[in-house]
Amino acid sequence: MHEVSSETTRLVDLVLDYSRRRMLSSDTPLDKPSTEADLARLAGRTIDERGIGAGRALSLFEHVLAPACITTDHPQYLSFIPTAPTKAAIAFDLVVSASALYGGSWLEGAGAVYAENEVLAWLANEFRLPATAGGVFVQGGTLGNLSALVAAREHARATLHEAGTDAPGRWKVVCSAEAHSSIASAARVMDVDVVPVAPGEDGMLRGDAVRAALEEHGASVFAVVATSGSTNFGIVDDIASIAALKDEHDFWLHVDGAYGLAAMLSPLARDRFAGVERADSVIVDPHKWLFAPFDACALIYRDPETGRRAHTQHAEYLDTLTETSEWSPSDYAAHLTRRPRGLPLWFSLATHGAAAYRDAITHSLQLAQDIAREIASRDGFRLVREPQLSVVVFEREGWTKADYDRWSARLLDEQRAFVTPSSHAGRTNTRFAIVNPTTTFEHLVAILDTMA
Ligand SMILES: *Cc1c(COP(=O)(O)O)cnc(C)c1O
Repeated sequence: MHEVSSETTRLVDLVLDYSRRRMLSSDTPLDKPSTEADLARLAGRTIDERGIGAGRALSLFEHVLAPACITTDHPQYLSFIPTAPTKAAIAFDLVVSASALYGGSWLEGAGAVYAENEVLAWLANEFRLPATAGGVFVQGGTLGNLSALVAAREHARATLHEAGTDAPGRWKVVCSAEAHSSIASAARVMDVDVVPVAPGEDGMLRGDAVRAALEEHGASVFAVVATSGSTNFGIVDDIASIAALKDEHDFWLHVDGAYGLAAMLSPLARDRFAGVERADSVIVDPHKWLFAPFDACALIYRDPETGRRAHTQHAEYLDTLTETSEWSPSDYAAHLTRRPRGLPLWFSLATHGAAAYRDAITHSLQLAQDIAREIASRDGFRLVREPQLSVVVFEREGWTKADYDRWSARLLDEQRAFVTPSSHAGRTNTRFAIVNPTTTFEHLVAILDTMA
């Protein structure tokens, strides 16, 4: 299995050939899930003592398993938050695997870590964070939020300890009632309480509402999370007014920009993020709107030392790694072994330059505005909120949840689009989440036409 032989050479060629075809295909179907019974019938048992051979395994993948996976980078995949990796990023992901790179420590992966850090520094600069900011690419926004909040609590603990003050009975994190579910998940893992604060009618959390929560809960609040691009609506909290509270209260400001912070690269949206420069930590997911393959979240600390103090693992066998001043990505989140998952983005950014990224993001922002205007002008349609970024949420008047469900299932069944129902304030709606530069106005209009 590990030797270079004619058999392993043929196997590598087979896999590279498949990858090449998939990467360069412009008509990969949308596809859809199968039932477990169907997959069991078609794929059967693939693992036995002797092996079925690469040809048969790859063929099963290509003809049975892959078609049972929805094509998340399809231009008509508009649910949740899609993905749209560049060819450069996807191709380089193969290189990362082929090279068995270890991205946990400078000692083992200095070159990879250098390149990842260049991307993180570039992002930090776009977000107007100080040049000393830094962090790490983790698996996803959920782990990024958790790691940032753990660092925030550690920082609060240390601050209280230095002041000789007792720690509160319960630690609390303040966030919008429309914050992402991963904040509640992090709170459960950390055994802390969430204080949900109502955003305005427009979905934006503002400083005034946060101030009231800070006054009520005092020093038990170790962090405030501003969401910059809510997942359901793409609404950006009023970060500046929340950050301004730092002048009166001591708290860690975390900006959850997993989906939306990428829009700061575009002049069309940059101003919406004013205040992010005062964040103590931010996250953004390159696998969402920065055109990298799954899975990658950039976690950036204003003062990376706060992350390192919270997360460095100590063990006898790790001392050679941790007792140095070298930058080891393992030290900045709740993980140890890691793939240098920032490299696909690094390669694509280095290849194409930042301007291509700005243009691609601007395209989706523009398209969201255009389709929102189209929806608002159609009889029987209602925009739920004006889009700020690239998520457009709307209702078909008179439709029940069952109507949306039937319509959505038919769209996927007929392989026209993947658009799922969502809801707001107890009313069912649906949404276009647009991050793919190959999605067009005509694609979206054709979907609206199916709702006539
Ligand atoms: C997607 C998302 C997350 C979670 O990120 P994962 O990469 O899916 O773990 C967190 N916050 C927001 C605002 C998101 O959009």
